[in-house]
Amino acid sequence: MSQEVENSESFERYMVVVAHPDDMEFSAGGTVAKMAAEGKHVTLVQVTSGNKGTDRRDITSEELAAMREAELTESCNRLGVAHIEFFRIGDGEVMPDLVLKERIVRQLRIHRPDVVITHDPFRPYSLHSDHRGVGQSTVDAVYPTARDPLHYHHHLTEEGLEPHKTAELWLSNPEAPDLYIDTTDYVDTKIHALKAHKSQVGDGEHLEERMKQRAEEIGAAAGMKYAEAFKVIKMRR
Ligand SMILES: [Zn+2]
Repeated sequence: MSQEVENSESFERYMVVVAHPDDMEFSAGGTVAKMAAEGKHVTLVQVTSGNKGTDRRDITSEELAAMREAELTESCNRLGVAHIEFFRIGDGEVMPDLVLKERIVRQLRIHRPDVVITHDPFRPYSLHSDHRGVGQSTVDAVYPTARDPLHYHHHLTEEGLEPHKTAELWLSNPEAPDLYIDTTDYVDTKIHALKAHKSQVGDGEHLEERMKQRAEEIGAAAGMKYAEAFKVIKMRR
């Protein structure tokens, strides 16, 4: 098992791009809490507002989206996320197309992250189409589209949004991680943030136990008490 020395020290700006409210928290909540606590700037690009994520019959998609955006905002406050950008694409309707790619490129050129964290689009048998779509669009936006000025020239470059090189992609829930972030001091913050998503986790029964067990399993591979794991793609040297 490869064990990566943490290399996050030199990076100041992070952007997380995920499909559903709570995806960031489950896959990278401890990491985000840690970066924010260390004074790093974290932006969240929230592609859907999870407006189908319920088995209730007494609520509309619009009501659910509003509820989940409020839950996410509270969760982000608990984690220390500096900014949330809502795309409000329908839950289950994410397509990895040129429109989504351009919207992500725009955010990359505005917020100029050193590190982008997203779903691993290369993980075999990843079943949720929104996760695959967001992962693929984000990877494609980071490289090479955000980097080269002729991409979306008329829309973005001429607006003054300069090309941007991201240093590293961190793909969450990968099959073969090569970066372990020690989240021992932040696992409680992650759980506290997840509990803000009441529409999803209810009263949070067993949540703490489940999250700590998972973080412990990941950490065991790297000699850490609790950890989160990523597959890293380095682009800027
Ligand atoms: Zn999701």
